Order: sequence, then C-alpha cells, then structure tokens
Amino acid sequence: MGKRILILGAGFGGLAAANALRKSLGQDHRIIVIDRKKSFMMGLVKLWILEGSRKLEESQTPLDGLNAKGIEYLNDEVAKIDTASSRVQARDHGWIEYDYLIVALGAELAPEKIAGFAGRGYNLYDAQQVPELRERLLSLKSGRVAICIMGMPYKCPPAPYEAAMIISGMLAKHGTRNSIDLDLYAPAPIALPVAGPEISSNVVNVISKQGIRFHASHKIKSVSDRQLEFENGAKLDYDLLVGIPPHRVPEVVRSSGLTDGDWVTVDRLTMKTSHKNVFAIGDVTEIKVGALAVPKAGIFAEEEAKVAARQIIDEITSKPAMAAFNGQGYCFMEVGGKQAGYIEADFYNPSGPSLRLEPPSEQNYEKKQDFERTRVKEWLL
Ligand SMILES: Cc1cc2nc3c(=O)[nH]c(=O)nc-3n(C[C@H](O)[C@H](O)[C@H](O)COP(=O)(O)OP(=O)(O)OC[C@H]3O[C@@H](n4cnc5c(N)ncnc54)[C@H](O)[C@@H]3O)c2cc1C
Repeated sequence: MGKRILILGAGFGGLAAANALRKSLGQDHRIIVIDRKKSFMMGLVKLWILEGSRKLEESQTPLDGLNAKGIEYLNDEVAKIDTASSRVQARDHGWIEYDYLIVALGAELAPEKIAGFAGRGYNLYDAQQVPELRERLLSLKSGRVAICIMGMPYKCPPAPYEAAMIISGMLAKHGTRNSIDLDLYAPAPIALPVAGPEISSNVVNVISKQGIRFHASHKIKSVSDRQLEFENGAKLDYDLLVGIPPHRVPEVVRSSGLTDGDWVTVDRLTMKTSHKNVFAIGDVTEIKVGALAVPKAGIFAEEEAKVAARQIIDEITSKPAMAAFNGQGYCFMEVGGKQAGYIEADFYNPSGPSLRLEPPSEQNYEKKQDFERTRVKEWLL
C-alpha cells in the first residue's frame, strides 16, 4: 500500500526532504508539500540583493517545478495540525490525512514585538524590503546607520555582521562611507554566542577594521524617531535603522501542541517529535546542546531533512533505521568585496561544540554562490 507523506513548508528543509524522499520511494508513495509561497528564494540571497549583485525579481524560483519531479505542491496556508487524527487542515484544500508528517515551517518574524519599529526601520530579513533599504542607504549622504539584532535566537547568526560589512563596502564604493557611522547592536554579551568567545572576538576584529562599532549587551526596548532605547538604559541616535526582528515559532505549530517551550523539541538524532510519525526539521525546532542550541541555518535544516527522509524511507522499505543527524554544518561568512570566510561547526562533538574559522577568500565567495545554485537546481529545476 502506498504511503502519503505530507511536508509542511517548502523552504530549505521542506525542499531537501521532499527531494530526498522522491529519489528513494516509488511513485505509489505520494509526497505532498504545502507552502503559502509560490516561489523559493534562499535567505542568503537577501545579502546579494543588498549588495546589488542580484535583483529580487530574478532570484525567485517557482515552487510548481516540484510537480515535474513527481512531488505534489499545494500553494496553500496550513491552518491546523491535528496529530491525534494524523491530518492537517489547509485553508483551501481542507483536511489532508498523512501516514508521515514532516513539519518544516521555519521561524516567523515578529517585528511588531518591538514598539515603534514598524514604519521607522527596515527589516533586513524581509526580502521585499531589501531593495528599498539599498536605495535608502545609497541616498544617505551623512549620518548614522544602526544595525540592530532585536532578539535571540535568530536565523543565520553571522548574517547581521555580513550585512554590516556589505553596507560598509557599498557606502565606500559610493563615496559616502567617511561621513556615515555604522553601529551594530546585539543583545548578547559576545557577537556569536553559538560560535564561542574566540570566533566572536575574531568577527568583532574584522568588522572593527572596517570602522563598524560593535555594541554588545544592547537589547532593544523601543524605537522612536531617530532614537533607539535599550534595556540597559542607553539611548542612541540613528538616521537609518536596519533591524533583525525577534523570531518566534509559527502560530499554527504552537497551537498544534508540538512545542515544548518556545520551539519544537525533537530527538536530536532522528528528528522525531513525541507525536506518532511526526518529524520536525530546521528553524522550527530547538536542539539544545548544553547551554547552546544548534543554530537556525539552512545547512542544518537540510541535513535534518535528509535524516527525517531516510528514517521514513527505511521504515516504509522495512530496512533498519540507521540515519542520524550528526550536528555538523558550515557556512560562508561574507566580509564584503566579494570575499567570504568559512565557518565549520560540530555541535555534537563529545567534548563540546567545536568550531573552526577560515580567513576570507574569493574562492569561498564563489563556493557560496555555488551553494545556492546547485541546491536550487537539484530541488526545483
Ligand atoms: C539574510 C539571511 C542569510 C542567511 N544565510 C544563510 C547561509 O549562508 N547559510 C545557511 O545555511 N543559512 C542561511 N540563512 C538561514 C536559512 O535561510 C534558514 O535557516 C532556513 O531557510 C531554514 O529552513 P527551514 O526549512 O527551517 O525554514 P524556511 O526556509 O524559512 O521555510 C519555511 C517555509 O514554511 C512556509 N510557511 C510558514 N508558515 C506557513 C503556513 N502557515 N502555511 C503555509 N506555509 C507556511 C514559509 O512560506 C516558508 O517557505 C540565512 C537567512 C537569512 C535571513
């Protein structure tokens, strides 16, 4: 009897899972993916739009490319997840039953949690706002640009630092950098808590060399016209605000009873939730590793997707379940000028998470371009 595997979310994790399943399961098994979006764009492309090397319009790949691969794509809103009855309600398609469910709905942005931010600042993580942000940055002749991380955890921990360096490079090229101050505010006491103090101070050194001032332990309280107020009492001026808003689990996931605390808890090796035949992967999950958690990044969503898919394939094909998430990942950290460093991480290292940073190079920047190109091609084209 063919099984029905339902995947919620066609982002990084959902697309990786759907493709892995389709490659190993016969056509008698249905793979259905639901997403409210009609197209996919990798998060990191927002930085290229900011930099000006990409346009938003040319960076979106239609999700209906999944159908040609034998994966059924439904453009719909997931309204309810009912794990007790093994079914999901989609706004237009109604109730859909499943044999296996993979929840890959990502993290939701909550800019409204910061009083005064809406209408005053740009949301760096909203692709629609980035082209206008770029124009505003280029039209600024002098003043102060504030980049503010507004909550923890957030997707891709190095991204705000990459954005700061890209902005610095853009302004230098435009001839305005010397008359514009760049300040980066973070709520944590070090730049990248997930990467530890050594890599954090390395990152702060790199941005300082570009004249970007880093302000640790600055948790934003509110935004008013041209002023930021922080929980430590500091009040600081800005002319242009670039925010990374707080993140939260999507409401449909929270109300389904899948969360334990703020995010979905899964078995750290199998990606199984405590609900029968329900897996969760990517940003919607929290996998604690001591005092840290596996970062919210596409590379981890992808690896977790492959593990969840393999578990399902092995169960359907009656093979022993061997796949296990190894807690390893990497990312390319852009420093501007078409150069990128490379961070490699092993969060399940028995003697504690270990990370390694490689200095910036043009080759790493090219590898990052390739990282996006190859995945979009494999998943959707
Ligand atoms: C600026 C930036 C740079 C980044 N750089 C990197 C990088 O270099 N390397 C890296 O590995 N990661 C990077 N990331 C992080 C990466 O994009 C995310 O961690 C990754 O997308 C998480 O994958 P996911 O599948 O969990 O969620 P997502 O990719 O966010 O997918 C979730 C999907 O669920 C859909 N959805 C949500 N709710 C509903 C609903 N109710 N109904 C229907 N559909 C719904 C959404 O439309 C979305 O398509 C970056 C992110 C940003 C913002």
